[in-house]
Amino acid sequence: MNGLMMNTQLMISSILRHGEKNYPRQEIVSVTVDNPRHRYTYKDFAKRARQLANALEALGAKFGDRIGTLAWNDYRHMELYYAVSGAGMVCHMINPKLFPEQVNYIINHAEDKILFVDVLVMPLIEALKDHLKTVEKIVVLTTSSNMPETSLSNVLCYEDLLAQYDDNYTWPEFDENTACGMCYTSGTTGNPKGVVYSHRSTLLHAYAGALPDATNASNRDVIMPIVPMFHVNAWGIPYASIMVGAKLVMPGPKMADGETLHNLIETENVTYGSGVPTIWMALLDYLDKSNNKIDSLKVASTGGAACPKGIIERLKFDYQTHVLQGWGMTEMSPLGTLFSLKPGMENLPEDQITDLQAKQGRSVFGVELKIVDDENNELPWDGVAFGALKVRGPWIATGYYGMSQEPGAEDCPVDKDGWLNTGDVATIDPEGFMQITDRTKDVIKTGGEWVSSIEIENAAASHPMIAEAAAIGRYHPKWTERPLLIVVLHQDADLNAEQIIDYLREKLHKWSVPDDVVFVEELPHTATGKLNKLALRQDFKDYQFS
Ligand code: ADP
Repeated sequence: MNGLMMNTQLMISSILRHGEKNYPRQEIVSVTVDNPRHRYTYKDFAKRARQLANALEALGAKFGDRIGTLAWNDYRHMELYYAVSGAGMVCHMINPKLFPEQVNYIINHAEDKILFVDVLVMPLIEALKDHLKTVEKIVVLTTSSNMPETSLSNVLCYEDLLAQYDDNYTWPEFDENTACGMCYTSGTTGNPKGVVYSHRSTLLHAYAGALPDATNASNRDVIMPIVPMFHVNAWGIPYASIMVGAKLVMPGPKMADGETLHNLIETENVTYGSGVPTIWMALLDYLDKSNNKIDSLKVASTGGAACPKGIIERLKFDYQTHVLQGWGMTEMSPLGTLFSLKPGMENLPEDQITDLQAKQGRSVFGVELKIVDDENNELPWDGVAFGALKVRGPWIATGYYGMSQEPGAEDCPVDKDGWLNTGDVATIDPEGFMQITDRTKDVIKTGGEWVSSIEIENAAASHPMIAEAAAIGRYHPKWTERPLLIVVLHQDADLNAEQIIDYLREKLHKWSVPDDVVFVEELPHTATGKLNKLALRQDFKDYQFS
């Protein structure tokens, strides 16, 4: 017997309709290249999204067409998120900071028909113009007075385009499994791979993400996504915020600038911000130097890379901001786990709570986790056993765009049993707190032991004179591999390799202590701000332990 319930399809447009009807006066505040502080309401937002849907159709975009965006976090990008998906097309968010060859590959692979491009990204598009095979139109996200000079012939101005169409548009309802968005992984190995989100997966993800023991987002919040909208949908914030009716503050291209972030937090009363650890580091450095405060900011959520304990403690003790660490992947929309205490834990000593915050969190409903050994046997949740981390759930990819969706196939990340292999190695403790110990390919294998490169990096980064550290395995004649630590010191720091090794001896197992330390001016990072271990292994391929 079936349930007797309406089979209303879970549509992205339903979030917009709900937001407009219930919170018409709620604000979206943005920094853009052409306006240091643009503000408008959900009502204006919904109206312009409908105008944009009319414009898209007039430009010839059809159901299922891929529409590319190369843009920062602002209101125009929000309009694209909702209008493109709402009208049945696929919003393909592209990271403009990738290498030009990668951007070129991604646009051609996704067969984008129209590109919506920020003014700052136009030089990149000019450079790629002869290689883009499917792009028919390029729309620059600005006003006519701010249009850049261009040699391209098929270029339109966003504001002029919108002005031509009225907001008389009814959002269509269609199958909730239809694609709504697309994001390519940054491709540290091989070409980037496309992850395709559906209306259903995106809505369920937004629901789960807003729950009290997840982000606890509500209409009392002022939410600032400092994670780019081209990086896994800004972690779902553009959807969850409108769903709950929160005020949104969008920092535009000034995302890594501590001064802009502080100014936005203070003047707009931001209560909740999301960003990778380096963003919080940039803000903290600015605050420390300028002697400023961030009184309104209750929660700093972070993910994408392990958050050093130092950041958690500085935010907690110096600024009374709670760090909420989460873990996920492009393939997971991205939410997998988030920090939250269980009943009774709030009375734990503060340093134990910090230790838990430094782990990657507990699974949110909708994501099942397991760790397995080399034979795919499930390992216990005892906080000690570590193995390959696998996940499954309704907002987790079945495969990549244009590649096999057959579980177990070579180019499919899902195994025969239907679990996605995350490429991470983790432990899970009896309370369900997951801790990433490494990426499968970064684990250092020394004399039969597995050493976590992340553990070494965290221990090194806790030294006050060390700005950043990376550990990689290098060939060792006796132990196969031994850890090599590569370090960037803070300005004016005076520290030698011997002192760092002594410091680490007190923090790590004997076999995890690096055999040598090398000093560099800076470390290579990927376009998404993560340590680029592949480049490091290449840079140090001839390194030999003496
Ligand atoms: P990409 O794979 O393109 O670099 P993703 O955002 O998809 O970008 O990266 C997902 C990976 O980032 C995870 O598999 C994990 O290795 C790492 N990661 C994400 N969040 C955390 C976290 N809180 N702590 C440690 N690693 C994390």
